Amino acid sequence: MTPEEFRQAGHAAIDWIADYMKTVGEFPVLSKVEPGEIRDRLPSSPPEVGEPWEAVLADLDEVILPGITHWQSPGFFAYFPANSSGPAVLGDLLSSGLGVQGMLWATSPAATELETHVLDWLVDMCGLPEKFSSRSAGGGVIHDSASSATLVALLAARERATHGQANRHGAGGDLTVYTSVHGHSSIDKAVRIAGYGAERLRHVAVRPDQSMDPDALEEAIIADEAEGFTPAAVVATIGTTSSTAIDPIAEIAEVASNHGLWLHVDAAYAGTAAVLPEMRWILDGLDRADSYVFNPHKWMLTNFDCSAFFVADRAHLIDTLSIQPEYLRNKATESGAVIDYRDWQIPLGRRFRALKLWFVIRSFGVEGIRAHVRRSIDMAQELAGWVEAHPDFEIAAPHPFSLVCLRHRGGDAVNKRILEAVNASGEAFITHTVLDGAYTLRVAIGAPTTTIDHVRALWEKIQAAATAG
Ligand SMILES: *Cc1c(COP(=O)(O)O)cnc(C)c1O
Repeated sequence: MTPEEFRQAGHAAIDWIADYMKTVGEFPVLSKVEPGEIRDRLPSSPPEVGEPWEAVLADLDEVILPGITHWQSPGFFAYFPANSSGPAVLGDLLSSGLGVQGMLWATSPAATELETHVLDWLVDMCGLPEKFSSRSAGGGVIHDSASSATLVALLAARERATHGQANRHGAGGDLTVYTSVHGHSSIDKAVRIAGYGAERLRHVAVRPDQSMDPDALEEAIIADEAEGFTPAAVVATIGTTSSTAIDPIAEIAEVASNHGLWLHVDAAYAGTAAVLPEMRWILDGLDRADSYVFNPHKWMLTNFDCSAFFVADRAHLIDTLSIQPEYLRNKATESGAVIDYRDWQIPLGRRFRALKLWFVIRSFGVEGIRAHVRRSIDMAQELAGWVEAHPDFEIAAPHPFSLVCLRHRGGDAVNKRILEAVNASGEAFITHTVLDGAYTLRVAIGAPTTTIDHVRALWEKIQAAATAG
């Protein structure tokens, strides 16, 4: 493809995306294909000679779209949102166009310096503790996912707990990690990969509002210490995946500091809410955390992947992950004056992801991002009001953000039937969780295209499905 051919093909691709943005609400939200159906539409072997671009693009409609679940649909209320926006799409496109691999400062200074700068902006925009900014001993880095950030936090915690011995001799078998019973599955995965072992992760009991019980945390730590274990880290959550419960960070920090644990805070979805001054209270106690992660790719209008990871002391991270092979030696690194982000993550190579975040912040302004988040929260509160006013339904958990957990009072079978009917309609997609043993419907609001009319239509569908059985 020559640059001129690229120009033509690129215009067609941009037109395709713009049309998709306009019509995304017209597709069935949840893909209806059976397993194997998409592969059956593909030729068994790759083309021997190159095909014209028109043929390639046409297959996006013919082959691929039927197998797409439309995360940007206004009827998407499942999991948590995966936000997208024009500026973010263009940022990713230009990042691909530059084709930069930003493993070291020297391999593209702008990729590193923009990332440092934009993450400092996030510190200011969200009112994060100053220690997480590059102006202090800490700093931020963009990871592909919260899962990677949590793994890296637990690796640094492992190093600190073993005074640098784990990297040299292996993890050892006596380190323990703590999270609540609602801690994300990425924590279970990270303790396996980091060598703590799944058996060394303690799932601490929660209080009636589904947040971690700090007394139960301390009891678990004391019991482990008595048995000869070394408690190394606790992962607290602001906005659990199940119900957006908020663990009491200040009380957990007190326990962590008394017993010498690394405190990592996972706010993958809810962290974006801190752009709102009226929501800053969710960060109470964060100034005592060692690390923090939230995902602009969930609620800050930035396409996947963009996970913002912050540490209070970057030396811990670099001590844990830095390796200096001869072929990467360079003057800038040796001067100590630059950041080499390969030392802040698992892989060596890295994409230029700061570009899309920069575009988003500049295009929407902080005020535009606040408006998006505030609108999502307002719609959720309105839905919660309708649910509360209905005699047959109940709210299943506190709903400070834009997730509402609700259920019909008729029991699990009725709620499962409602979920299936809503999702079969093609007009909306919701998922579920289990709270206090009861099957519970989750309505996560936050797709940029969703309006209160879509929320009302969903609520009507839920009520209709309840009576249809
Ligand atoms: C979504 C979510 C994650 C995982 O995020 P990835 O970026 O997909 O790894 C982790 N923790 C919480 C609380 C989440 O909601």
